[in-house]
Amino acid sequence: MINFVGAGPGAADLITVRGAELLKNADVIIYAGSLVNPGLLKYAKKDCKIYNSAQMTLEEVVSVMLDAEERGLSTVRLHTGDPAIYGAIREQEDILEEHNIKYDVCPGVSSMFGAAAALRAEFTLPDVSQSVIVTRMAGRTPVPESESIESFAAHNATMVIFLSAGMTEELSKRLIKGGYAPETPAAIVYKATWEDERVLKTTVADLHKTAAENGITKTALILVGGFLGDKYDRSRLYDPHFSHGFREGKRD
Ligand code: SAH
Repeated sequence: MINFVGAGPGAADLITVRGAELLKNADVIIYAGSLVNPGLLKYAKKDCKIYNSAQMTLEEVVSVMLDAEERGLSTVRLHTGDPAIYGAIREQEDILEEHNIKYDVCPGVSSMFGAAAALRAEFTLPDVSQSVIVTRMAGRTPVPESESIESFAAHNATMVIFLSAGMTEELSKRLIKGGYAPETPAAIVYKATWEDERVLKTTVADLHKTAAENGITKTALILVGGFLGDKYDRSRLYDPHFSHGFREGKRD
């Protein structure tokens, strides 16, 4: 059995209880060493075989899995944050399917939520934005043309941008070109929930200046939108006049 497990954003105690149990029971752990906290390996059994996938190809990773499977061992493939976000799990799953190998996925706390917590922010503020756009700048992995930063910026919604901390100059220009006002609040969160976490508040116009001044080029999220500002409406759900299935609203 293979379990793809989300390691959480950084702090070792942000893995799920289920994820930690799977780690404790694993005979083989393949972890994404570039971003997974090595502190999580403390859960591993003494005789657990541990591989760092940062130095491995897809073929090498899968060959470790197939070998473990042949020997009836249980494998954890530990991915940073949640495996569903830029996790490259699909290509592994498809090879396992071809070999008729059973696998499961255990979710994790994505760094986008680690960053929101670091900012003590709510992505979905009434009257500000009720949508979150999760995207990235094109790098070596292309982004479909219909998903350009400009086209998303036109919504003025909450935006969380992964894998782009080294491209803040172009990102800032494209966010403004697409429709965010230059003074729209923005933040750069470096290594959210790690001990050396840094939270930098800035604006869309000053994104590059802030990244450059602080020497940030990777392991950071860029967050953009009015949710980082001061204005919003209070929620309807907790409004005394609002009725719903669990509470009768006041009439006056
Ligand atoms: N599956 C992961 C994302 C993997 S892609 C998740 O759910 O978080 C790797 C990118 O995620 C990095 O380039 C960076 O943009 C972001 N990232 C991962 N961990 C981070 C952290 N602790 N703080 C800020 N950004 C992080």
